Amino acid sequence: MDASDFLHRLFARIDDRTDAIVDLTRDLVRIPTVNPPGEAYGDCARLLGDRLARRGFAVEYLRAEGGLADSDRYPRINVVARREGTGPGPCVHFNGHIDVVEAGRGWTEDPFAATVRDGRVYGRGTCDMKGGIAAAVVAVEALLDETGGHLPGALEISGTVDEESGGFAGVAWLAQKGHFSPPRVDHVIIPEPLHKDCVCLGHRGVYWAEVEVKGRTAHGSMPFLGRSAIRGMADFLARVERDLYPRLDARETAMPVIPEGARRSTLNFNSLHGGQDEGADGLPSPMVADSCRLVLDRRFLIEESLDDVKGEIVALLEAMRRDRPALDYTIRDMMTVLPTMTEADAPVVRALEGEILRVLGRPATHVVSPGTYDQKHIARIGHLHDCVAYGPGILDLAHQPDEFIDIADMVDSAKVMAATAYRLLHRNNL
Ligand SMILES: [Zn+2]
Repeated sequence: MDASDFLHRLFARIDDRTDAIVDLTRDLVRIPTVNPPGEAYGDCARLLGDRLARRGFAVEYLRAEGGLADSDRYPRINVVARREGTGPGPCVHFNGHIDVVEAGRGWTEDPFAATVRDGRVYGRGTCDMKGGIAAAVVAVEALLDETGGHLPGALEISGTVDEESGGFAGVAWLAQKGHFSPPRVDHVIIPEPLHKDCVCLGHRGVYWAEVEVKGRTAHGSMPFLGRSAIRGMADFLARVERDLYPRLDARETAMPVIPEGARRSTLNFNSLHGGQDEGADGLPSPMVADSCRLVLDRRFLIEESLDDVKGEIVALLEAMRRDRPALDYTIRDMMTVLPTMTEADAPVVRALEGEILRVLGRPATHVVSPGTYDQKHIARIGHLHDCVAYGPGILDLAHQPDEFIDIADMVDSAKVMAATAYRLLHRNNL
């Protein structure tokens, strides 16, 4: 069989199913799987599972019982669907998270109506990442129809929970149970919105920590009798501005992070709390603050070690201690994620590149996500490294008001995913 003739028929079939991609996207968006708290996961998992069961997939609903945030009110229900092929071969897995972040303010559209306008579907989760899930599902259905199901290996599709809150009851939990390890699975594509002509190799690392500066309280009219934790924190923040930011900005990386501004180390302050809470009359008591807490969010590069990232925060505080001998502080680690980056010549990367070129007529770009996503669990827990993110949608729209996905982008990326799966299942021997 001539592969390029086959692929052209496959692509025509996907074009014919544009409405199916749009309809599935809309059906998924209308189930408001907002996380936190993790609404309606079961409904969304069943929408996918029922559909795939009708196409001959063996469907499992896997609740992360006892997992982080799992409860009877908000059960963490994942769906994993697998369809065995007609001969030996590898398994290609498409994984998408079904949770979305809250709608937030500033919408001009109903965030859960999934309105179609001007070639786009609008709504929370259209771009991140229900449009990508819909594109992957229809891609796999078209591939099964065009081949009559005669494919080697196996196809898997999973819809998983809690990616937006770390993925612990989703991909991490499934990976611990062996769902993301060879030989069960060989290649994983996560259709996160990283642009239809880009292959996303991985993501930067994350270090969240709470720094608390402790002081000694006294009456606010005689602050010299105490030691202000807020002044201590102000000194720390000034040192970060003066000594740390210029160094972070200067760091270069081999990671092709997008957007360009994230192609270096970054540091955000997520929150800052100091002193007494305001009382019922809105006035805080006149006290010298005995505590000031800062939550920092450091995103780091593959060239940096976690020890170094932590160490330079400690070094700043220790330098401060030389000027403030009474300085009392603690650092509490809140979350750490190591950077991950799949090799640029890994099979899934090569296959996607070839099909992006075929479908879009231009070479693929390698990118790395500025933020983390579920690939980390597949790499570190599943020990599966042939995994990337590839999917439709504009990254910058994720989590924004009036989030949308372009219908043409979903169709194009569905073609790329279908052809890539076909190529990988045949071990590139076409
Ligand atoms: Zn996402």
